[in-house]
Amino acid sequence: MKTKFIFIVGGVMSGVGKGVTAASIGRILTNKGYSVSAVKIDPYINVDAGTMNPVEHGEVFVTQDGDETDQDIGNYERFLGKDILSSNYMTTGRVYLSVIEKERKLAYRGKCVEVVPHIPEEVILRIKTAVKDSGAEIMIVEIGGTVGEYQNILFLEAARMMHLRAKKDVQFILVSYLPIPGNLGEMKTKPTQYAIRTLNSAGIQPDFVVCRAEKDLDIPRRHKLELFGNMASGSVISAPDVASIYDVPGVLEDQHMGNKLLRNFGIRPRKNNWTSWKKLTHNIHNPGKPVRIAMVGKYFGSGDFVLPDAYISVIESVKHAAWSQNLKPELAWIDSEKFENGQAPKDILKDFDGVIVPGGFGKRGVEGKIKAIEYCRTHKVPYFGLCYGMQLAAVEFARHVLGHKKAHTTEIDPSTPDPLIYIIPNKIFEETKKYGGTMRLGAYPCQIDKNSKAFEYYGSEMISERHRHRYEFNNDYKDAFNKKGFKTVGICPDNGLVEILELEGHPFFIGTQFHPEFKSRPLDPHPLFVGFVRAAATVN
Ligand code: GLN
Repeated sequence: MKTKFIFIVGGVMSGVGKGVTAASIGRILTNKGYSVSAVKIDPYINVDAGTMNPVEHGEVFVTQDGDETDQDIGNYERFLGKDILSSNYMTTGRVYLSVIEKERKLAYRGKCVEVVPHIPEEVILRIKTAVKDSGAEIMIVEIGGTVGEYQNILFLEAARMMHLRAKKDVQFILVSYLPIPGNLGEMKTKPTQYAIRTLNSAGIQPDFVVCRAEKDLDIPRRHKLELFGNMASGSVISAPDVASIYDVPGVLEDQHMGNKLLRNFGIRPRKNNWTSWKKLTHNIHNPGKPVRIAMVGKYFGSGDFVLPDAYISVIESVKHAAWSQNLKPELAWIDSEKFENGQAPKDILKDFDGVIVPGGFGKRGVEGKIKAIEYCRTHKVPYFGLCYGMQLAAVEFARHVLGHKKAHTTEIDPSTPDPLIYIIPNKIFEETKKYGGTMRLGAYPCQIDKNSKAFEYYGSEMISERHRHRYEFNNDYKDAFNKKGFKTVGICPDNGLVEILELEGHPFFIGTQFHPEFKSRPLDPHPLFVGFVRAAATVN
């Protein structure tokens, strides 16, 4: 079978759920027996997401092979249940950079190198490389942004060219938004009609329009869109708001979207296996008792709206673990700066069953996080520290148990007498000031002490987890930590770096230098998150 391609583009506005739609279609086609992978095209000049503004762009998702990518790659991994590699992610910057580098190496053999066709050709080449690396039979390609803007025009051009060369193997899905203005109380199709026309002017006719809206799309509007959008009957799909993103594959499947896509490609479903996905959505909608988890962090920008996107993988990991244990996940954001301004951690944290301090950078809110961690340690509240959350748990322990009152991470206090968390000098960025891509990134092995809770949870002595950080636990303090019961139970065999700290005699007090949240999937929750929510649900 020749590789099939499904391009997903957005209409009317951003943030309508292209990523979840792409991932859901991937899940449907996986359930039907095909090997599916997904590419994300991010129309930014940034070469990777590591240097993008987290408030605007959301989480930086780290792949197994150490790329800093868009959070949609995380959605693909979670819905498809498989690793997505770096070659499945491209930005405008990445595409231009490689064309310019090739030009400098005379790879175009003295030809004039032009935006068209060389940029779209490079995009096509990258999509084909992703097919090769992932072994996908069906490749979903999500083009970021909205049709009609300048930023993604060359990507649409690449898609058009691919379609022209293999019409039967390429389909287009427009994910659009249908507003229901409050003063009218009626769903409007016109913006989506315009979006279809705009896509037409790029030489593309969508095969499907997925209509995102607050409510279900009714029959008259479906027909209207078919007629004015030049769409085949049955190709307008309703995608109303749902309680959980994991409901979306079912919503699309109920409208036979998977079989319609396959039929257009001239292929048939090999099977139709929904057992585990149905079990998942059943658990989501029929949870048992609540487990209340506080995420203590600094707030980005202006309030609650922004944080969830920046920590989407952590949130999803807590949910996956809770659902698997028949618990109802309830997450709340606690601004750690509150604890710096006189609020006692107890006043707020007493209402929670467990506390997470997620990854982070910089000084703001750090002392508040340390206060929250101290409260969890001394009151036996289950605590899970992810990356910065592990580093700060180590700082708290060094200060209050080992008596190194000024212990700190050199990220905040470069002249601390006790550089407990420090940087292993990295010549590259000190000398060249090339900061992008200089962190410890991607998967590293970790050897786990058999005598630990971490071993119990993982059920394995050798694991692999993903990283994104610059600072490390300083091994000069290792013995003192072990002696006083904050044990270094996970070590990277490659370089001796501490990866997991675990407190003895506490129901759950674990910090990981890596980011376990990047490997949790709804059908395969992460063992440490499962251990954490179980401890939280049992203790309180
Ligand atoms: N700021 C810390 C470091 O760079 C932690 C990073 C993180 O939490 N991802 O090491």
